[in-house]
Amino acid sequence: MTILLTTLNARYTHASLGLRYLLANMGPLQEQTKLQEFVIGAKTTEIVERILARQPRIVGFGIYIWNVEETTKVVAMLKRVAPQVVVVLGGPEVSHEPGEQQIVQLADYLITGWGDVTFPKLCGEILNGPKPLMKIHAGVQPPMAEIKLPYSLYSDDDIKNRTIYVEASRGCPFKCEFCLSALDKTAWPFNLDAFLAELEGLHARGARLFKFVDRTFNLNIKTSLKIMQFFLDKLAAYPDDPVYAHFELVPDHLPDALKEGISKFPPGALQFEIGIQSFNPAVQTLVSRKQDNQKAADNIRWLTTQSHAHMHVDLIAGLPGEDVASFARGFNQLWALHPHEIQFGILKRLRGTPIIRHTEAYGLVFEPYAPYTILANKDIDFPTMQRLVRFARYWDLVANSGRFAHTLPVLLGESAFEHFMDFSDWLYANTDATHRIALDRLAAMVSKWLQTRGMSKAAADELLASDYAGRNESGSRIKPAAANTPAARAETAAPQRQARHLAA
Ligand code: SF4
Repeated sequence: MTILLTTLNARYTHASLGLRYLLANMGPLQEQTKLQEFVIGAKTTEIVERILARQPRIVGFGIYIWNVEETTKVVAMLKRVAPQVVVVLGGPEVSHEPGEQQIVQLADYLITGWGDVTFPKLCGEILNGPKPLMKIHAGVQPPMAEIKLPYSLYSDDDIKNRTIYVEASRGCPFKCEFCLSALDKTAWPFNLDAFLAELEGLHARGARLFKFVDRTFNLNIKTSLKIMQFFLDKLAAYPDDPVYAHFELVPDHLPDALKEGISKFPPGALQFEIGIQSFNPAVQTLVSRKQDNQKAADNIRWLTTQSHAHMHVDLIAGLPGEDVASFARGFNQLWALHPHEIQFGILKRLRGTPIIRHTEAYGLVFEPYAPYTILANKDIDFPTMQRLVRFARYWDLVANSGRFAHTLPVLLGESAFEHFMDFSDWLYANTDATHRIALDRLAAMVSKWLQTRGMSKAAADELLASDYAGRNESGSRIKPAAANTPAARAETAAPQRQARHLAA
């Protein structure tokens, strides 16, 4: 074996689509190329030992925001114990600002941007000469039809045990300044028939959980409908062995034809990740995000009430121009629409994103290390930002986990953000922890908090017991606020099926 493609995935269940694309496009070098994935948290020495056991001449590393720190250690150790091994880097984290990155200094070569044709070409030059003169190679973007699709490279083990990532298109036409996809300026579709044939092949091999990494699935409605029809056909043909599909949507573009398709999906078969990010028009303008807030809200409401789709809706705290009061208004507005989960993210400065143009005017201060989370800005000081960070963490534990489904609406009352912030501050003051709070301790703390708000111990414990002692043991993420909707009622009928998919 001559070339090893490797990366550190965030979890075992995440199979790297990027590495499989590279392997699929190695051409004559494919025979000599192998793929080996690791998971972050593994010991550096073990990773290096396992890489070297394959005796590669070239190691290609996929570098992402979540693995750059650990991979830097791996590359440093690898170059110490085996300096003859040629290290080639690629991936979004090293595609911008390479001059500032230690890992780039340690490596022999770097490919920025698309690696599908540039990586095999560079490997050929390294192996057969002439030796590449430049260290940094700008990835060439080939016509989409020339990129070989990688789906046959998912092994049977991947299909059985891991999330299958797929993409019908790359890129995004929107320009939200906090997002790396803003640099794409457009989206490039793969040939739809060829893609659907690959999905067919994966399904025939047993794949049932498909996660689309397309940035905006509902960009081209004709394409979206055809892909949805693929899944509807499978659901009709195999009702006892259903598929589950996850898509990212822009919220303000849901024409009737798409709604009609969505409404045909049964419970537990469809999940949408929907970016709202901010409901504040001034903030949206500032970060070049085009969004019709009224349409977006109407569409989320429609999805909640008229479809069985499970919805994660994203908000970002820390955007320039957004103070806590404005964020709170957006949060409450979103909570009132009853999505199943609100993904509360804190702004990160992804390398290469244009958001830094606001640094001076809005006093943006980011962590110096990955994931470069915002620490403060002109409107939110450091201690307040930390309160928001804890809010996000506790929100995951209490709200998004679905473990407090009956208790949550009582805890939130009529002012979801304000009440949860009070709870979050109190919980932190009384536990000094944001991670590793055992569930029974968390339940006891929630009960205690409700008592500080005037509820009797008996009533608080009874309320908690309704979640905690079994009535919600399925792990359903349905919030009680949404539990009265038709979609939620139907979903509770199939918690096992959804739980299986959501656990992946
Ligand atoms: S946030 Fe979403 S819509 Fe905006 S540029 Fe990124 S992928 Fe596109």
